[in-house]
Amino acid sequence: MATKLLFQLDSYLKEFEGKVIKIDGNKIYLDQTAFHPGPFGGLAADSGYIEVNGSKVNVIDVKMEENDEVAHYVEKPNLFSIGDIVKGYIDWEKRYAMMKLHTASHALSSVMYNKYGAKITGGHIDHNSAKDDFDLTNVSDWRKALLDAVDDTNKLLKRCANVKVYWLSKEEALKIQGIVKLAEKFPPNVEKLRIVEIEGIDIQADGGPHVKNTCEIGEIKVINVENRGKTKKRIYYTIG
Ligand SMILES: [Zn+2]
Repeated sequence: MATKLLFQLDSYLKEFEGKVIKIDGNKIYLDQTAFHPGPFGGLAADSGYIEVNGSKVNVIDVKMEENDEVAHYVEKPNLFSIGDIVKGYIDWEKRYAMMKLHTASHALSSVMYNKYGAKITGGHIDHNSAKDDFDLTNVSDWRKALLDAVDDTNKLLKRCANVKVYWLSKEEALKIQGIVKLAEKFPPNVEKLRIVEIEGIDIQADGGPHVKNTCEIGEIKVINVENRGKTKKRIYYTIG
């Protein structure tokens, strides 16, 4: 049974209650979870702990499996029994940093697309830093292009734009300009798409946690830029 993903409903949920529905070795499955699995949607896994029958058990890793089930890899699986009501606590500092990077990455990808027609060709967002690859074959000076886009993005982030999350049918979502290329990546059996809209900046179908307002983010700080191939001009960045 698909695990209910609480972080998609409220990205600011730091603790939650869930019921143990399956145990497989050191993997614990709950009916619902606020732990973000990784790598999933280009983001890393959350860490934290689960409180079960008065004991605190560390969550070492979290993975999305087939059938959309989330596996929590725990240190002491023998403390769990089917039917237990447990409490999960995510490592909020790490997660919040990742949410800032995630929302910033959406804004950056929007600037790259609008300014240069550059599409994302890869990337990953961790808790402390992110990397994105862009196809900049149309641009003569790709380094300058990336750095200019960061400056533009930082100006946009300072507008304090609200980030709205809502669900649309696939049919409605496909009518939104700029969303089509992403929506097409979704499996055809998906009926409802989760839309993340950074007002006036970006709109995408997306399953990950975001901040509520771009003024929570601060600024993108470039760590490095690197040529990884013809269609892969990479930028490493963090938030400062
Ligand atoms: Zn995203």
